[in-house]
Amino acid sequence: MCGIFGTHGLVNVVEVAQIGIFPVRHRGKGSIGLAVRDPQSKRVEIVKTVDYSDNVFEQEKYRNLHGKTAIAHVRWPTAGPKDPRNAQPHYTQSLQGRLVISANGDVVNMDELRELVATGGIRVYSDNDAEMITAVIYFYLQKGLELFDAIIQMKTKVRGAYSAVLMADWEDALYAFRDELGIRPMIMGYLDNRYVIASETCQLQAVGAQYVREVHPGEVMKIDDNGVSRTENSVVDQGCHNCCFCSIEDVYFSRPDSYLYLPGGRQASYSSVRYELGKQLAREYPVVADLVVPVPRSGIPSAEGYAAEAGIPCHHVIVTEGVDIGRTFIETELRTRAFLANLKYTMIRDRIAGKSVVVVDDSLIRGLTMMVIVKKLFDAGASQVHVRIPAPPYVYPCYYGVDTKRNYELIARDKSDEDQRMAIGAPTSLRYLSIDGFKQVLSQFHPTGSCTACFDGKYPV
Ligand code: SF4
Repeated sequence: MCGIFGTHGLVNVVEVAQIGIFPVRHRGKGSIGLAVRDPQSKRVEIVKTVDYSDNVFEQEKYRNLHGKTAIAHVRWPTAGPKDPRNAQPHYTQSLQGRLVISANGDVVNMDELRELVATGGIRVYSDNDAEMITAVIYFYLQKGLELFDAIIQMKTKVRGAYSAVLMADWEDALYAFRDELGIRPMIMGYLDNRYVIASETCQLQAVGAQYVREVHPGEVMKIDDNGVSRTENSVVDQGCHNCCFCSIEDVYFSRPDSYLYLPGGRQASYSSVRYELGKQLAREYPVVADLVVPVPRSGIPSAEGYAAEAGIPCHHVIVTEGVDIGRTFIETELRTRAFLANLKYTMIRDRIAGKSVVVVDDSLIRGLTMMVIVKKLFDAGASQVHVRIPAPPYVYPCYYGVDTKRNYELIARDKSDEDQRMAIGAPTSLRYLSIDGFKQVLSQFHPTGSCTACFDGKYPV
């Protein structure tokens, strides 16, 4: 999972790109980077950093950029280790100049593509999906195609999930494209008569842009001084009935204050999606308890939904104040995650002691965070701890950009319900939302379809 941003034509394009990428730092801590095309040198300058901090853009190398087209990226390492060579924006050197990309997602047919580009004398040494995408585009540029058409041809070969922005040394233009199933998010905004491309609407809010629409699944777009040119045959243009938006975006990744825009002009925040999942969970697995306790922060909306439906007060007795660690799930090292989870959560003990509590988190993937929380709730004196998860068991690995390829890390993969309960510290009960209930709630927000492969094994690609 990564976050992307791209824009063209604004006076302060570098500043906007920096502000635009910052709200999605939750999508990746592995690296941050910017690329800006300098109109004088006719070259795209790329600066990027691994293990970045909040004031990363104060570094001189970021301040000295200028130009008219910019892309930005935050990376969560999925394919390839946390290594400066895997940081994005990535580039491929073509005969015309460099192709520079920021992409979100994973390509599933890397070996096949490696063979394809090798027939054109192009070698890809890394495991980086973004580099492979640009290599395939270069392969088609070599055949004499314009960049826009080379991207369209690339899309006939690359399989998997990708939402990407791209630019090149030889023209001042921003390209945006998305896989046919629309697995990873990608939206378009409007600011000062110019367009911006982003992963989430919270980025548009940050730069002051108006939401325009999603980049359609399958669409290729070119944004330059002439405005927007685009493919007319994107999946949505043809009537997409089989799109597969990642349901983990709904339950976890996307920020609660980011919005989905639905047919008929309706809007729904991800917070609302999670609230409805919590309500459905309460209908399926009610329990007699004194308190509903959300796991901050991504468990809060579902806990509130559960509490509202069950008629139980929701008390925020797990706190993370003063420990701004962010999302422990996206830390890559197991020991680091365990340490951070332990440090991150503290309990308001006097409001827990003697109470039976229902604790609600967004999902249970490796179970580490919940194990820490169950122990701390019992240590705080809870008489009962009922764990409720507003998503089905996460059983199958993701190949489309979420770091769960290692099956053995998935707590629900090979364990019975009882073994899972024991593995997270023996709470009084553990219940997941049913797959049918999950799909039914999501269908209200994604009428064209959702990917639920990590829950039901039905891989769309
Ligand atoms: Fe999202 Fe799971 Fe599908 Fe991966 S497999 S895209 S995490 S729903």
